[in-house]
Amino acid sequence: MRPRLERGYVHVYTGNGKGKTTAALGLALRAIGQGYRVFMVQFMKGSKDYGELKAAARYLPDFTIVQSGLETFVDEDNPSPEDVALAQKGMEIARRAVASGEYDLVILDEINVAVDYRLIPLEEVLDLMRNKPAHVELVLTGRYAHPRLMRAADVVTEMVLINHPYYRGAENRRGIDF
Ligand code: ATP
Ligand code: MG
Repeated sequence: MRPRLERGYVHVYTGNGKGKTTAALGLALRAIGQGYRVFMVQFMKGSKDYGELKAAARYLPDFTIVQSGLETFVDEDNPSPEDVALAQKGMEIARRAVASGEYDLVILDEINVAVDYRLIPLEEVLDLMRNKPAHVELVLTGRYAHPRLMRAADVVTEMVLINHPYYRGAENRRGIDF
């Protein structure tokens, strides 16, 4: 019999420092090692060149990652209809994964940003948190987490930016940043 959490919590990883998505991936690895199944929806991301996508596909049958975004950046002031449609599709995929009972840990990567950019209504995310099955652990990542999401969560962690190589002009590195 597969293990099941008695009570799943909601986590929010936010802030401007590096480490939000990678913290969620670390949690996924830990959960998988203990026999749990993990589902991640990546909002606003469409590039297949992420290490986590390749690792999950190659080595981690208990880790499903679905992207629901374009490869290009979303223009905060003027998101394209396609950006909005993909974010809403991601939300529908997330609702189904949470309700399915198939997954113990569900990660909504960058959903905080999708809410901040108004691609997804805040209320829909609050509803998902409220209505999730008791055993599902839910993780929301991304900068600019709405105060109401943080208030409704059990674990809230802010990554504080102290330094990042970006500020001396360094490029993102394969295997470290993506
Ligand atoms: P990671 O995916 O590395 O855990 P993150 O999820 O905390 O980062 P995001 O806001 O999602 O951060 O940004 C993702 C990308 O931006 C990564 O390539 C990351 O290295 C880079 N990044 C993170 N924080 C900063 C920052 N403060 N300044 C510039 N680039 C950053
Ligand atoms: Mg991130």
